[in-house]
Amino acid sequence: MKTALGAILITEQEIRRRIVELGRQISNDYSKTSLMFVGILRGSFIFLADLIRAISLEAPVEVDFMSVSSYGDSTATSGTVHIEKDLGISVDGKDVIIVEDIVDTGLTLFHVSNILSGRGARSLRVAALLEKPGNSKYKRPLDYVGFKIPNKFVVGFGLDYAQQYRNLPDIRVLDEI
Ligand code: 5GP
Repeated sequence: MKTALGAILITEQEIRRRIVELGRQISNDYSKTSLMFVGILRGSFIFLADLIRAISLEAPVEVDFMSVSSYGDSTATSGTVHIEKDLGISVDGKDVIIVEDIVDTGLTLFHVSNILSGRGARSLRVAALLEKPGNSKYKRPLDYVGFKIPNKFVVGFGLDYAQQYRNLPDIRVLDEI
């Protein structure tokens, strides 16, 4: 497939402003609770880096990352998941925010949230920079969403196509040519 960078969907400035708002919301919701952020690699690393710097909490904040690939088909919620990189810190008894770059079918989130609640996380919420309309597998509303976007393939701000474009400062549509 031949592709080309298309129009800017969300500008750098819009992203920056929205992350500050999300940071404020999280700071209000958790004011005195210690919190653990779990970033889903690789796409979430830029969003997570900005998000944690936009929060101000009195209690400690922990950060860790995991990477999974899911082998579920689009009609099944029970597909298996392979953990490619696991957490190095325990989630047991902790309030956790899972950080995703984009939630599409919700299957990744479905698996990761099952894994983390199975490991004894005290509470689980989700922060996603982007949400597509097809998020049906997770079955719960996302707690902190940057932007709802149409069903288009997007790149930039951490999101890739064939490992490229993660460094773009804004979110762009990738066009087929
Ligand atoms: P889900 O399991 O929710 O269907 O898919 C989530 C994952 O699929 C994201 O973490 C991301 O890696 C990938 N993904 C889904 N939609 C897009 C998109 O529009 N652009 C990019 N770059 N990745 C996407």
